[in-house]
Amino acid sequence: MTVWQDDVARDLVRNVGDRLALLTRGEGSYVWDGDGKRYLDFLAGIAVNSLGHAHPVFVEAIAKQAATLAHVSNYFATPPQLALAARLKRLAGAGIDGRVYFSNSGAEANEAAFKLARLHGGTDRPRILALENGFHGRTIGSLALTAKKAMREPFEPMPAGVEHIPATIEALEAAMDDRVAAIIVEPIQGEAGVVELPDGYLAAARSLTLKHGALLIVDEIQTGAGRTGQWFGFSHEGITPDAITLAKGIGGGFPIGALVTFGAASSLFTPGSHGSTFGGNPLGTAVANAVLAEIEDAGLVENAARRGTQLREAIERIDSPLIAGVRGRGLLIGIVLSSPIANAVVAAAQERGLIVNAANPETIRIAPALTIGDAEIAEFETLFTAALADVQASLAESETEKATAP
Ligand SMILES: *Cc1c(COP(=O)(O)O)cnc(C)c1O
Repeated sequence: MTVWQDDVARDLVRNVGDRLALLTRGEGSYVWDGDGKRYLDFLAGIAVNSLGHAHPVFVEAIAKQAATLAHVSNYFATPPQLALAARLKRLAGAGIDGRVYFSNSGAEANEAAFKLARLHGGTDRPRILALENGFHGRTIGSLALTAKKAMREPFEPMPAGVEHIPATIEALEAAMDDRVAAIIVEPIQGEAGVVELPDGYLAAARSLTLKHGALLIVDEIQTGAGRTGQWFGFSHEGITPDAITLAKGIGGGFPIGALVTFGAASSLFTPGSHGSTFGGNPLGTAVANAVLAEIEDAGLVENAARRGTQLREAIERIDSPLIAGVRGRGLLIGIVLSSPIANAVVAAAQERGLIVNAANPETIRIAPALTIGDAEIAEFETLFTAALADVQASLAESETEKATAP
């Protein structure tokens, strides 16, 4: 064992399994480990590094704002905070009535959304609907919204009122009544393995929530900031939600999250009802504002759409019996494997110098920087094809061993 692995084992809380490598620097779509080995990064910090690594816009925004005004308390407003709020409202189509609450992470944005649902529901509407296989974070409130039982159980009791329903329009129709405060959904379930909602789901959810007076909250933490080839996942569906939550890609690597409210939902929070010391500070908001401005100015939402199609075509061209299908939209892609070998594929890819992710045992998730072009896609195709061949060869080898074993 090398030194860094000993340090990990001794010093870090054991909430994560073995770390895959010790990464020391990044540039564009590449990262390097402590031995100087280069990797093509097609995970981008799980849909976080929208501009890739060490992008000059990101670097300059941090340096400039840190030298100007990094943090003040929320007793004060700052220009970057106001600029980012206005930009998010405009991009989300939240209109003049929209409002923005800033957090430091996705889970915290969903905590704010949970409180929004409670403020809306009061005592008459104790129910909050979330979807099976949904993921909304690991803090207690966001964990209650998260579907996976194994994640929740050690930390029970959970806050009351959350029900997980199947992701079908029929299940939503059956579950909806006037005691529902809100439903929270991801437009594409990222952690579940890049699983899209059924066609028409968001439109149905919109009309059912309007009919029953419940809020429609869309968790855009993974799908937002242009990732899917539109600014937000819900943008594909032509609906207006009551609230969306954001994090990951909006900061490009700086920890920041947000809750954007639309229409009447914007008047639910009142002075003293929520807060965060760091949330919305000038450093974080200046960086997110610069990252989103660059996504706009460089046409990276369009690039995500175009490169997503190109990448999907490249994946479909790969002639491997290990690939069973492709899911997702834009640059949030799930490669479905024909058996539960995702960890082996991730390891083989890493060996070849490519970072991808096992969202679940049968799905490889890729979420590269929105800046990728022809070169990155060609290199991905080569490396991923080789990694699949490596896995297939070792599978064949272990089959032969089994067959020839005494
Ligand atoms: C990552 C993610 C979260 C949690 O965000 P954190 O910043 O890790 O707290 C919540 N919802 C979705 C859809 C996510 O992908």
